[in-house]
Amino acid sequence: MTRPAPLSTAFLALTVSTLVVLTAAAGSLSPAPGSSTTASTGVAAESSPPSDPLASLLAGAWPAERRQEVLDKTLTVRLAPDLSALTAEERQVVDELLAVGEIMQRLYEDANHHQAAEVLAWLAAAPEEGPDAAAVEELRTLYRLFEGPIATTLDNRREPFVSVDPPVPGRNVYPWGIEREELEAFLAAHPERRDEILGERTLVRRATAENLAADRAGFAASPALRQLHPGLAERLTELAAVPDPAMLYAVPYALARAADLAEAQRRLFRAADAVEDDDPEFARYRLNRGRDLLSNDYESGDASWVTGRFGRLNAQIGSYETYDDALYGVKAFPSLSLLVRDEAATAELVRALGGIQEIEDALPYEAHKRVRADIPVGVYEVVADFGQARGTNTATILPNDPLFSRRYGRTILLRGNLMTHPELFAIADRSWRAAVAPAFADALAPEGGFHRTLWHEIGHYLGVDRTADGRPLDQALQGWADALEEMKADLVSLFAHHRLHAAGAIGSERLAAVRASGILRTLQDNRPRADQPYQTMQLAQLNYFLDRGLLTVEGDERLVLHPELYDATATDLLRTVLALQAAGDPERAAAFFARWTGWTDELHEPLAARLREAQGPRYRLVRYGALGE
Ligand SMILES: [Zn+2]
Repeated sequence: MTRPAPLSTAFLALTVSTLVVLTAAAGSLSPAPGSSTTASTGVAAESSPPSDPLASLLAGAWPAERRQEVLDKTLTVRLAPDLSALTAEERQVVDELLAVGEIMQRLYEDANHHQAAEVLAWLAAAPEEGPDAAAVEELRTLYRLFEGPIATTLDNRREPFVSVDPPVPGRNVYPWGIEREELEAFLAAHPERRDEILGERTLVRRATAENLAADRAGFAASPALRQLHPGLAERLTELAAVPDPAMLYAVPYALARAADLAEAQRRLFRAADAVEDDDPEFARYRLNRGRDLLSNDYESGDASWVTGRFGRLNAQIGSYETYDDALYGVKAFPSLSLLVRDEAATAELVRALGGIQEIEDALPYEAHKRVRADIPVGVYEVVADFGQARGTNTATILPNDPLFSRRYGRTILLRGNLMTHPELFAIADRSWRAAVAPAFADALAPEGGFHRTLWHEIGHYLGVDRTADGRPLDQALQGWADALEEMKADLVSLFAHHRLHAAGAIGSERLAAVRASGILRTLQDNRPRADQPYQTMQLAQLNYFLDRGLLTVEGDERLVLHPELYDATATDLLRTVLALQAAGDPERAAAFFARWTGWTDELHEPLAARLREAQGPRYRLVRYGALGE
């Protein structure tokens, strides 16, 4: 794919060409995008341009005031690391990976909402000039900001900003609008189907003739799938013989999105050709990952990603994180991150990392494990993020799969140009000052956030990674798995810094900065929704810290920190979280979160209001120089 032209329309120009390519690849299949039970083989369900895109777009769209309300609260962050040192071959790899990223972006939007492709087609076809041009441009910005047609409102509700179906917990990776009760009943009646229905990279469908025809057509779009998924074609044929909308089936993502993923695979192979000699391990990773996208099994790519010694470039490619699945918390959503390593910062970090095993051995739980000493960690600059990875996330640790991470380890990618972004730190500092008593106002420092985040990621490496009886945490704890895992990582970071300080490995200033960052992390500018694992576990920490007196509230509702209680409080909460993970009982986890996520009008609401007031921009729209933005 050619490098997109500058200006914001580049995103749409690219979209249109992607739609055309994908539509062509998907052949004659073009299920009606508005139909809620329809499977689509490609993200480009729309095969012909909408009859009146402008009318479709504006009918039922948010009025100007509502659009403006959100756009006024949006900070644009532009990331544009210097790529001038890359070789011509590396540039070629960058171009191919950006093109794969655009595919992942469309797949992600489609996984979130079954009408995303339709809205994108309206946006692409709407005129650039005329009386409605400004409104159209604002809707394009909103689509870009929210990666689809569903906005998060200022009071934290999810709601469409154009006329599409309201959001549902299972997004578009389960039958549209299905309720948990129906899925539970199906699993109880068909226990042998549980693993595939709750598979990380499968889509769940109703066994209608239309869905089955669309899925079976994937074998034509990508013939290798027949060999890679033995028995699957026969099973779909069997289901198609007696279509039954009450019957559910799971289809591997590789087949459900066959044309798109086959195109991604071809581009990954081409990118591998480009640097075969200069960066052979990175090339092999892309070959493996290209095949993984077809086999739906990420082991070979994950192994070569995590253990590979790469040149300057690195990339997260595929479906990993399950945060967007608000129904079961098990489905991974598509993503791609293209990164270039900061060599000096990485070398310094690797030197500073030591004694990880000692931290693991000190954690407050029984079943300690061996942790590999050479954790692959690097400081990177984000070139561009796509799909689930798009945003201002400051660090990543992958893969999540307990078997693969046990075998190969996990790679930690610190996203330096976001961690140290001056405008983002300024927002954090304003929030902090609005929340705490004057004596603590100067306690926040960028290094606190950096090191707390680093050890949060290492924290995912440590502690419980399966239930005591050997079940994967995601499947055992279902919707609570992410919140508990993230909470463990937060608390391991605090725990580790106290140990490192006690051992003389870090100074008091570093500890104080991490402690402040650890408190800031828990402050909420809105009451979290149940489907927000990060915010939920942060609120639980805040309430626990208040309960234990680590935080107290002064007369004017300013928080006062009692550092002498910090270590014991964080350690006790960590012990509880590790026990909940080991038990793997979703009801116990639910009771824990019910106990600790209270929200009061006396404390939480005024604090949230002060944070909202202080932080200024509520939303962050990230633009990428590499995409011509
Ligand atoms: Zn995490």
